[in-house]
Amino acid sequence: MVPTVPATTAPRRSYLSHLECPRCGERLGADRPANVCGCGSPLLCRYDLDAARAGLHRDALAGRPGNLWRYAEVLPVRDPAAVVTLGEGWTPLLPLPRLGRRFGLDDLWLKDEGCNPTGTFKARGAAVGVSRALELGVAALRMPTAGNAGGAWAAYAARAGLPLVVVMPQDAPAINRREAVVTGADTYLVDGLISDAGAIVARYGARSTAFDAATLREPYRIEGKKTMGYEIAEQFGWELPDAIIYPAGGGVGIIGIWKALQEMEALGWIHGRRPRLVVVQAEGCRPLVDAFERGADASEFWQGAATLAAGLRVPKALGDFLVLRAVRETGGTALAVSDAEIVDAMGLLARQEGAWVCPEGAAAVAAAQRLRASGFFGARDRVVVLNTGTGLKYPELVTADPPVLARDGEIPGA
Ligand SMILES: *Cc1c(COP(=O)(O)O)cnc(C)c1O
Ligand SMILES: [Zn+2]
Repeated sequence: MVPTVPATTAPRRSYLSHLECPRCGERLGADRPANVCGCGSPLLCRYDLDAARAGLHRDALAGRPGNLWRYAEVLPVRDPAAVVTLGEGWTPLLPLPRLGRRFGLDDLWLKDEGCNPTGTFKARGAAVGVSRALELGVAALRMPTAGNAGGAWAAYAARAGLPLVVVMPQDAPAINRREAVVTGADTYLVDGLISDAGAIVARYGARSTAFDAATLREPYRIEGKKTMGYEIAEQFGWELPDAIIYPAGGGVGIIGIWKALQEMEALGWIHGRRPRLVVVQAEGCRPLVDAFERGADASEFWQGAATLAAGLRVPKALGDFLVLRAVRETGGTALAVSDAEIVDAMGLLARQEGAWVCPEGAAAVAAAQRLRASGFFGARDRVVVLNTGTGLKYPELVTADPPVLARDGEIPGA
């Protein structure tokens, strides 16, 4: 059996009640493995939030362990023995005073997901998704990935003792290809994008019983990612920021944060105006931004997707309509930045604040600067940039090498 999170307080239970389709309203029982709704939409977990509101005060969270399982009541895993954990969540929320001054943002923050197991926030989704699969008796998993999800799910599947088949683009970051292999996933590369990997995984599904764990094709990954929203609120003492900037590929994290805001309101944990949710994509793959600008409810498949921010290379997201709703309903916006801006922002943040973030997180930093310059943000707005992963996973993006000294050499000018 896998180790479980120690219960430090009274036994906790999940208030999970059912699954619901956000498009057609269909309701399904939550205690069998499920993929998408009959109408093709992702399914979302619903909880008995009235009972949770009566049974759980936010102050009760204070003494709990520093990982995402502190929110067990609003997570879908019912049996603590099914929890598969590597210590994910409860990541640092860091002020960025020096960078903020430079951008003209007095209250700029970084939620640093690079501190998660496997180095990205994909660990949150994998921890909850794999735990729930284990709990529901799933015997094997399959998924396409742009890279980091494959690495994370491979690690958690290994910890759960579940076999996993994963397919990713041939040019996914080297670390993603290797971390999946190292942790024992049955790993394949395709000369194409995540959408091509998805087609291969779907064909494999026709002759395999392995459960389809692709982005938003099962309802539990998003439950892990929504805990970023809970943490931002709790770490700010339940005072919400004015905006959260999120680098979106499939958009699971932003839909999850939006869902967390709705749940926390129903729980009576937060009040007042919701943060504006801002989506950033790369110029070379901007289907959500285009849809937002056109006023459309859904995105078009983006042809020829290309960006060095591999996690953003998702030409069409299953949950696009939910991302667009989240952005519009909160008065947010969507914008695209260039790869050059991403690389600049990565270097700037590293030098100014000591944080070496992934290119996706750097895109969100670049967006903060742009939105201040355009007047979308005021100087005193509290803005949170979500850094989705550590820059340590992308060493190939840094080409500068320090000068070599002769053994009897001297440091210049010293
Ligand atoms: C997957 C990924 C993203 C995009 O996340 P979605 O939830 O698919 O929008 C952003 N950054 C990194 C580092 C990722 O791995
Ligand atoms: Zn439906």
